[in-house]
Parts: sequence; structure tokens; C-alpha cells
Amino acid sequence: MSQNIPYGRQSISEEDIAAVVEVLRSDFLTTGPTVAAFEADLAGVAGTTHAVAVSNGTAALHAALFALGVGPGDEVIVPPITFVATVNAVLYVGAQPVFADVDGETLLIDPERVAEQITPKTRAIIGVDYAGQACDWERLRAIAEGHDLSLVADACHALGARYQGRPVGSLADLTVFSFHPVKHITTGEGGAITTDDEALATRMRMFRSHGIAATPADRDRQVTWEYSQVALGYNYRITDIQCALGRSQLARLEPWVAARRAMAEAYDRDFDAVPSVRPLLSLPDRDHAYHLYMVRLTDLPGALDRGAVFRALREQGIGVNVHYIPVHLQPYHRETLGTGPGLCPVAEAAYEGLLTLPLYPGLTDGDRVRVVQAVCDAVQAS
Ligand SMILES: *Cc1c(COP(=O)(O)O)cnc(C)c1O
Repeated sequence: MSQNIPYGRQSISEEDIAAVVEVLRSDFLTTGPTVAAFEADLAGVAGTTHAVAVSNGTAALHAALFALGVGPGDEVIVPPITFVATVNAVLYVGAQPVFADVDGETLLIDPERVAEQITPKTRAIIGVDYAGQACDWERLRAIAEGHDLSLVADACHALGARYQGRPVGSLADLTVFSFHPVKHITTGEGGAITTDDEALATRMRMFRSHGIAATPADRDRQVTWEYSQVALGYNYRITDIQCALGRSQLARLEPWVAARRAMAEAYDRDFDAVPSVRPLLSLPDRDHAYHLYMVRLTDLPGALDRGAVFRALREQGIGVNVHYIPVHLQPYHRETLGTGPGLCPVAEAAYEGLLTLPLYPGLTDGDRVRVVQAVCDAVQAS
């Protein structure tokens, strides 16, 4: 049966379409004024002086670690509950990912576990603002400053979130966003890094275009054909076509986050009376952006497990999902890093009961009631 309620989906308006068409009729399809305008808008939302837009969130992670100079011989502390891209980016620059377990209630990286993993080789900490809730950036900042480490936020889930009143984007040295269609706003594929550090922003701009320092526009202004490749970069550019969509979408971020939050709170209330379905903890000093709505299934009756509940919901056309299989249990990482079960017991135990329920701005109250009813039926079946 088709998944007629997906776990997430984009919203595209006529204004979005018109904005894209306008760029198609203009002189610049890529590396033009709309990229710069999108970057300025994004820096405004993040509360930073710079934003650098790139081809996707994974490229943004890669650019961030490159800009910090992380490389072979360095260790980078990462959480196990994240998309594989967070860990892969560490490997792209030749560094060693070191897993620090998560907090059992929020599934955010646990600052105590982070502190335990620090060695003389540690260069950076990547915190993932999982589900759309900011990490404990104050404690992570204190640890980083105490050991002279860089702080990177993987905020691919958390555009529009806040921590102690401050916007996500301005809390780490570098903050990474993704604009894949399941995320808060989309450019089709796309990503960005926000920062207050001009030198890092300049390095990332060079990195996204082969390691070449000057853009074609710079060369036009200087009336020269010369350019210097000063590092080994990549083609990680984003187009003006994509950024037109991004700008148009970004204008609707606030109402979208408010809608997601209202729906998540309604889910929380619906599950109040269902002891075997426990929402993740949302902390009072953070404004959760709810990229994802996750529950943990506990104490299911008899032979019932998360897999059975997952299949029962999928059979009814409800696009439940699981975010994420702990990265240190992936075959590639087991093989190359020598990780495996037992390394992050809190993450591993939480994973067994995790289930992502549908959440996106177009989800209706009727859809939510249908999802909740189906979850309740599934967990009560024996
Ligand atoms: C989506 C996502 C990424 C990667 O973003 P892409 O744009 O798909 O490359 C990285 N980290 C997390 C936590 C994500 O959710």
C-alpha cells in the first residue's frame, strides 16, 4: 500500500515557482546574485555575519572541517545517533571519528561523555541538534574552550531553533544546514555553513570552487583571466536557481516552525495516556524546531517489537521511519573503525525502541489523529 502520509514532505507555493522562473530568465544560473542574497538572508536568520551556501549538507560538513584545518592524525568527537554524513565528513578529511554517547532522554550528545573522549589528538567536537533541538552548547563550549577545540554544529535538523534565546547558527564556531526536501526549507539539494569568522568563511568559499581563491565575478572586476588554485577543493557550488527557491522558502520558516511545534505538542498530549509510547524529552531552555517527531516504544506486550509496530503502520499507509541506526553499527564503520555493539550503550538501547512519526507543515489534525490511533492500535495488539 502506498504511504499516503509520509514522515516528512516539502511545501512548494506559487511564489516559490515564480522565484525560480525569474532566475531562469536572468543572466545568472549559478554563482550569481541570488546565491549571495540567499546567504545574506540565511546569516540574518542564524544571527551571524557570514553564511556560505554549498551543494548539499554533507558538502557543508566537509567544507567546515576543511576550513578548520582538521586532517590526518586528528580526532573529532561525534554522536552515534545521527545521519551517516556527520561521521563520513570526518573521514573525508582523513581524521578519526570518536563516538561520544548520547543522553538517554533527549538523544543529544552527552557533554560528560564528550569530556571523557578527549585526548591530545582531539581537534573538534561535532554536536548534532538532533530532531530539531539544540545540544547543550553552553557546556560543549566550556569543554571546547578548556581544551582549545573547535565546535561544529550539525544543525541540519534545527534551522529556526533556539538555545537560551539565541538562534541555532550562532552557537558553534561553524554551523551546518541542509536544504534537502525533508528538512525545514528546501533548495532541492543544498546546504550552508554559518559563522562569525570571516577567515573561515573565505576558506569555505574557496573550497566550494576547486580551491580557487577568486570567483569569475572577481576576475571580471579586475579585468584579468588569472586565478590561483591554492588548495585542493571540490565543485560544491549551489546554483542561483536553487537559491531562489531557498530565499522564497526561508521567508516562511517562522510559521512553519510554529506549525511543527504545535503539531508536536498535540502528539505529546495524545500520547500522555499511552505509557508504552514515550516522546523524546524537550528541554525548557530550548525552542525545539521539530524537524522530526520521535517516540520511544517501551515495554511492548508479548512478542510485539518496534519492527512489528513499524510494519503495521506502513501497511496502513503511514510513512513511519527510524532515525537513526547508530552510525558506529554500520558495516563500513565497524570494518574501518573497529566499532561495534557496546561502544555507545545508551544510543544502542534507545535505538531499539525509536520510531519517527509523520510531521510536516501540511499534516492535518485529521492525519495526526489517524496516526495516533494507528500507533495505539499497533502497540496494544498482542
Ligand atoms: C540531512 C542531514 C545531513 C546531510 O545533508 P544532505 O543535504 O542530505 O547532504 C547531515 N546531517 C544530518 C543530521 C542530516 O539530517
